[in-house]
Amino acid sequence: MRLSFRPYPLQLRHTFTVATCSRSATPDVLVELYHEGFVGYGEASMPPYLGESIESVCDFLRKTDLSAFTDPFRTEEILAYIDAIAPGNCAAKASVDIALHDLQGKLLGKPLYEMWGLTADFDLPTTYTIGIDTPEAVVQKVREVEGRFRRLKIKVGVPGDHEMVQAIRSVTDLPLTVDANQGWTDPQKALDEIQWLASQGCIMVEQPLPKQNLRDHAWLTARSPLPIVADESVQRLPDVQRIADSFSGINIKLMKCTGLNEARKMIGEAKRLGLKVMLGCMTETSCAVSAAAQLASEADFADLDGNLLISNDPFEGMQIVDGNIRLNALPGIGLRVKQEK
Ligand code: MG
Repeated sequence: MRLSFRPYPLQLRHTFTVATCSRSATPDVLVELYHEGFVGYGEASMPPYLGESIESVCDFLRKTDLSAFTDPFRTEEILAYIDAIAPGNCAAKASVDIALHDLQGKLLGKPLYEMWGLTADFDLPTTYTIGIDTPEAVVQKVREVEGRFRRLKIKVGVPGDHEMVQAIRSVTDLPLTVDANQGWTDPQKALDEIQWLASQGCIMVEQPLPKQNLRDHAWLTARSPLPIVADESVQRLPDVQRIADSFSGINIKLMKCTGLNEARKMIGEAKRLGLKVMLGCMTETSCAVSAAAQLASEADFADLDGNLLISNDPFEGMQIVDGNIRLNALPGIGLRVKQEK
């Protein structure tokens, strides 16, 4: 197998603000994996807070030599080699994992969900994320997507978030999920906020407190009227058991966990431990989003809107139909390359 890659900066439709940062572009690297006339597509997306960059991903991929692997179906062996190249580098590792799985599906002529014995016949709404903004801008963003989504996700944990929620409630009664991105520090105050948010039609809360505060999260989860889902507190497979007593569920993102192979193991572990499963994403093209969506039949919550937040998606893949995730029957992760203009 042979790998090629190129930087592909993602342009965001709106400047995106969460409790910890604000940005208008996301660095990204597109990967192609060739074998016997087939090509698998992969992607590394690097939001600034995870410590990877175009340079670090390209450095990692330059060290990656898959020429010795002649059987693309030796998944564990190939990905163990990738994981051992260097610690960290989770998005870089995910780009190879996604390309490898896409290639496998294409070699077999089957979508991944079918290869894994999963189904495309499910109803799972994805949330559409509204970043932190002025009440007027938030109303504008909600109106822009009116009728296309069944759930919205909002970012809270900053001053003025009540006004933002009330502004959204002035234009829609859709269920809301809430992401505090570690923005609250006092568990009692977080509980008060969550109770207020529940009264406003919120149905789930992501990462209310700083990621290392597992004991405070356990206290909060025991009292919260809404499920509390770990995002920043959970990255890879060993984290699932470590945080299991502190949260109601986990947010699995391919860029955090090194890709589909580990994501599938995390889903198994979460179900074994009685945790809810959320599939999330970064701002990504349809490549990584469609890869994650192959697992959607196994999830309780989905936030797979990263491709909708960018204006230069080079692919078409998973679609949102009536607010629900719809997988196509194309092999691998189900991508079509858009015609270059
Ligand atoms: Mg989150």
